[in-house]
Amino acid sequence: MRRKLVAGNWKMHGTLAENDALLSAVLAGMAGVRAQVAVCVPFPYLAQVQAKLAGSPIAWGAQNMSQHGKGAYTGEVSAAMLNDFGCTYVLVGHSERRAIYGETDQVVAEKYAAAQAAGLTPILCVGESLNEREECITEQVVGRQLDAVLGLCGVASLAKAVIAYEPVWAIGTGVTATPDQAQAVHAFIRGKIRALDAAVADDLVIQYGGSMKAGNAVELLTQPDIDGGLIGGAALIAADFLAICKAG
Ligand code: PEP
Repeated sequence: MRRKLVAGNWKMHGTLAENDALLSAVLAGMAGVRAQVAVCVPFPYLAQVQAKLAGSPIAWGAQNMSQHGKGAYTGEVSAAMLNDFGCTYVLVGHSERRAIYGETDQVVAEKYAAAQAAGLTPILCVGESLNEREECITEQVVGRQLDAVLGLCGVASLAKAVIAYEPVWAIGTGVTATPDQAQAVHAFIRGKIRALDAAVADDLVIQYGGSMKAGNAVELLTQPDIDGGLIGGAALIAADFLAICKAG
């Protein structure tokens, strides 16, 4: 039985004071939440979030990391550094990293491998752009993104990973994939993994991300292959984030 995972992606938002208020409010409202909950926060706030959430039911992680272990990589942060701050999760291949910072499928796969080698659980983000959906190549694109990781790390690696299906056209736009649209891609992803390893496919947590809010969370999270959410904007408002957590 898969446990739902609702993870907040704070992106480049927050201050020490705002984070403290947000996490206090979320912690205060956790009664009755059955889903696993996590927040992926900007690097400078990892120590603050670790101190605030240690011993709580909420896990934490980062939004990106280097594929390299250490060395002359100015501005980068390694998996070992994330471990120093007690991270459980790290996002890899978020569409903003792919689109704005040019991360290729190969680089994303290397980050995924480096995260797992350090004992972190990568949340591998995949998803098609609006053009790609309109060209009816969603499965080709998502399949290619998955193949890069499967080729480098093998299907067994997915036993210690999470996949987030995030249609790029739904991220931060207020346009949410319909439950049927999302479910279809989730089923495609699970089916592709099932063809390689049924047990891994059955246990694999596949989150949906893209303008998930309190008002649409239940209909998305009750789809058979949607195992949680990766939440951007709504994760910055405690009541909204909690409502999604409670829908899971
Ligand atoms: C995201 O950043 O991964 C995301 C899903 O953002 P939003 O919920 O704001 O669309």
